[in-house]
Amino acid sequence: IIRVENLHKRFGDLEVLKRINLEVDRGDVVCIIGASGSGKSTFLRCVNFLEEPSQGKIYIEGQLMGFKELPGGELVKDSQTNINRMRAEIGMVFQLFNLWPHKTVLGNVIEAPMVVRKQSRDEAVAIGEELLDKVGILEKKDEFPSRLSGGQQQRVAIARALAMNPQIMMFDEATSALDPELVGEVLEVMRQLASEGMTMLVVTHEMGFAREVSDRVIFLHNGQVEEDTTPEAIFSAPKSDRTRQFLRKVL
Ligand code: ATP
Ligand code: MG
Repeated sequence: IIRVENLHKRFGDLEVLKRINLEVDRGDVVCIIGASGSGKSTFLRCVNFLEEPSQGKIYIEGQLMGFKELPGGELVKDSQTNINRMRAEIGMVFQLFNLWPHKTVLGNVIEAPMVVRKQSRDEAVAIGEELLDKVGILEKKDEFPSRLSGGQQQRVAIARALAMNPQIMMFDEATSALDPELVGEVLEVMRQLASEGMTMLVVTHEMGFAREVSDRVIFLHNGQVEEDTTPEAIFSAPKSDRTRQFLRKVL
């Protein structure tokens, strides 16, 4: 469902991502781990073109993003092609929940489906309430975000992303800003999504989650894929010294 070929990303002289190759199959849960500054967020942002790759190709559901094919078969950069449609297929959840403060919980969830998917208000509300129930927060639907705990806000952010009925969900340290006692409720929602077969790309420092829930773990080091393997392999017998050193620090 996702294929990344030879992705590079530079910011000026700084090469943040180098030669990334990656395939994610439908239903896979892939965790991305690595030190601060290793390029994890930049990688997710390149996959949905929040950042334009400096080099390389990204295919979502077989479609090449950010290029269009000329009649002769030549590929030219075209940031419009496919990208908006692709973004609607990828739900993104960030470290900071970025809810609209002036909208209620339900208002946050129904906005994009009505505007982008052209759902009627009734339809959006029905789906929105179902999703809020799923993330365990339906009773707060008429509250404003500032009156919710961090964990509750993050569950609203997940429901809001799901309301667009995405094919893929990406999480960038979705639990890092939360107080420790609130982390579990958000991980539980993510775990449930995974068990329902959602395709997920998850940047996380929660090694327990990576170990138990993911199908694959990718260790990024200085913008390169240092190791790409099963959770059992990476946690019990990492191949690379760098992976071993990193895990020693975080486990
Ligand atoms: P963390 O765990 O701290 O979130 P990360 O692995 O997500 O780190 P990135 O945010 O992807 O790391 O950043 C990778 C590198 O790219 C860092 O050196 C960062 O300073 C640099 N970088 C990221 N975004 C930009 C930008 N817009 N302009 C210039 N440099 C950037
Ligand atoms: Mg980051």
